[in-house]
Amino acid sequence: MSDWIPVYEASNSLEAHTLKGALEVVGIAVQLRGEALSGALGELPANAVEVTLLIRPADLERAQQVLAGYRQGGERSWKCRHCGEQNAGSFEVCWQCGHEPGTE
Ligand SMILES: [Zn+2]
Repeated sequence: MSDWIPVYEASNSLEAHTLKGALEVVGIAVQLRGEALSGALGELPANAVEVTLLIRPADLERAQQVLAGYRQGGERSWKCRHCGEQNAGSFEVCWQCGHEPGTE
């Protein structure tokens, strides 16, 4: 079961754990790599604590959807029915085309 692939590089441990939780909620198994290095290896600079999220290849598509929603600032995001753009939950109309969700 060594078949893990990197899906996202978090800039810090907090972000990594936030995303890990978001992925696990939808049933995606996540491993974190890099976190253990901070403090363990004295030669590393203090800010070298980027944490890579690893997932299984089968989960890649779903994981990217979850991460795309996160990057767009929404715990809830919606997909425009007109142009297919993914919008943050805080947007009332599609930022790409101005289409309102719920209308045809
Ligand atoms: Zn749109």
